[in-house]
Amino acid sequence: MAKDVLCEVNSCVHWAGDNRCGAETIYIVNRSSQEAANSAETDCKTFESK
Ligand code: SF4
Repeated sequence: MAKDVLCEVNSCVHWAGDNRCGAETIYIVNRSSQEAANSAETDCKTFESK
């Protein structure tokens, strides 16, 4: 289980500064309907725009 989540998406309401995520939990999904083959093919579904 991830303890500290690092993230650079500072347009998200959960972004806590210093490239850290302040969300209680995060949900990462495949970008498309197929299984991801690399990190570029994943997305954070917990993202909410500020
Ligand atoms: S919820 Fe997702 S996009 Fe938002 S700060 Fe956390 S990891 Fe980044």
